[in-house]
Amino acid sequence: MNKTFEYLFGPVPSRRLGRSLGVDLIPFKTCTMDCSYCQLGETSCSVSTRGNYVPMQDVLRELDQWLEQDGQADHITLAGSGEPTLHNHFGDVFRWAKEHTDIQTVLLTNGTLLHNAKVRDEAVLADKVKVTLSAWDEESFRQIHRPAEGVNFDLLVKGEQAFRHAYLGELSVEVFIIDGVNSQFDHVKKIAEVVKSISPDRIEINTAIRPPADSSVKACPEERLQAIAEMFGPNASVMPAFQKQGFQSLEISEEALAGLVRRHPATCRQLADEFNLPQDRMFKTLKQLVSAGLLSEEKREGEGYFYCR
Ligand code: SF4
Repeated sequence: MNKTFEYLFGPVPSRRLGRSLGVDLIPFKTCTMDCSYCQLGETSCSVSTRGNYVPMQDVLRELDQWLEQDGQADHITLAGSGEPTLHNHFGDVFRWAKEHTDIQTVLLTNGTLLHNAKVRDEAVLADKVKVTLSAWDEESFRQIHRPAEGVNFDLLVKGEQAFRHAYLGELSVEVFIIDGVNSQFDHVKKIAEVVKSISPDRIEINTAIRPPADSSVKACPEERLQAIAEMFGPNASVMPAFQKQGFQSLEISEEALAGLVRRHPATCRQLADEFNLPQDRMFKTLKQLVSAGLLSEEKREGEGYFYCR
């Protein structure tokens, strides 16, 4: 990406989505939940009220410019700094993509607003949708996700079930496993029952690969994740950790890298692997961005961790 955009970031290389252009419609950490495992830190604006959080005409203008200048991506993904379905008009991005490109669209949502028929009507426009479900009852939901007022477990499950009923595209459920919190097999069994009631096409088992908001949150060991995935049946798999993507090296400008790290804090090694670039080169660029005041760095578990708050 040549130009710096305010609402677009990447394209980010992704094992599952190829080169994915991110579209961010929500101010930093404006979300319906404050998940203990969130890589972006604590939710500063905990809300469940929808609104026009950023001007949609500016987002669409940036998409037009991106298409003119580059336009190369395998997917256009609504994701980023908060919950995208909080934006009243998030479906306009999918409409734009259908009208202007053949690129497939993806919605990454925590699913909390899918109980709202208006949200479902917009979400069905995406080619692929991924929702979250990592709890088995109200208590575990509150412990893991610390929801905003008006958000609860029952509404989440009913919303995801209703969405499945209406949606013919590819629906994935992400189950985020925190060691010692929802990793016990009796709890996993209960989560699997709820997930089954949503009938997703695929189930992705994830854990804290990136440093989370709450430092007491621990990643679940790979072996246990594999055993957990088996409990969800043949459509479930463990999300690959950061690893070399098998893509050709992907050049990324300093500005685009800063925009990406703002939404996906990471270590130098993770970013170098993600873009298939030498670590020393990535480190030099990250340090320049820290010197310019665009990123911050701190040590976590002995490794330099880059973020933007
Ligand atoms: S993980 Fe997603 S849903 Fe949870 S607080 Fe962070 S942005 Fe919100």
